[in-house]
Amino acid sequence: MVRTVTVEPTGSWATDPYLLRGMLRCAGCGEAVLPLQTVGGPRSYACRCGCRMVPLSAEALEARVWRETSRIAPERAAARTRATRAGLIAEIFRSITVGGGVTDLTYARRT
Ligand SMILES: [Zn+2]
Repeated sequence: MVRTVTVEPTGSWATDPYLLRGMLRCAGCGEAVLPLQTVGGPRSYACRCGCRMVPLSAEALEARVWRETSRIAPERAAARTRATRAGLIAEIFRSITVGGGVTDLTYARRT
């Protein structure tokens, strides 16, 4: 049996390992895609309604979004440490919609 626990917001990017907290939307149901910690398992994200059978890999999703962020704002991205990346992502994107998987992302830029 796998027990799951939804991690509550900590209020601090510096201590929050989930870079994309609050940024993700599910293309399937329109709900927020939230951090999900599987006890003893990898970090992941899952949507609130549970329409995804398989949680999304946090590492894969964050790496992909960070690559896109770095492509858009290379100098600002280079100046960020792991702990302050979330702030830059939130400055550039309004939201990121996740379709079928971590390779199917739709970015909504802030204007
Ligand atoms: Zn969903």
